[in-house]
Amino acid sequence: MSAKTEFVEQAKQGRVLARRCTSCGFIHLATVYFCRKCGSRGFEDHPIEGRGSIATYTIITVPPAGFEKYTPYAWVVMDLDGSDLRISGFMAGIGSPGDLPVGTPARVAGFDERGIIIEKAVK
Ligand SMILES: [Zn+2]
Repeated sequence: MSAKTEFVEQAKQGRVLARRCTSCGFIHLATVYFCRKCGSRGFEDHPIEGRGSIATYTIITVPPAGFEKYTPYAWVVMDLDGSDLRISGFMAGIGSPGDLPVGTPARVAGFDERGIIIEKAVK
């Protein structure tokens, strides 16, 4: 399975596929060639729970071609629980800042043509 496919499969199960340095344990989100912390070249797949809270977002009112049917929506940045990692993704139904206070609990809910799908989490 390709790295991209594996990432998508994990997202569909609510997880984020990160890469863990086999020398020092530092977690990276993207495919990297050298560990940012220790310089090692060894990595292993490390799925983490796709739960966290909204850090910031942009409400999209003028969508790219093909995305008109999804408006309004937000492109959100989510802080993942238990780490300093952030991911960005699509959240449907956000039309004004009142719809989504910063800090709102959120979770990864899937992956499709829109990218990572993020939903408000019920705690
Ligand atoms: Zn390392």
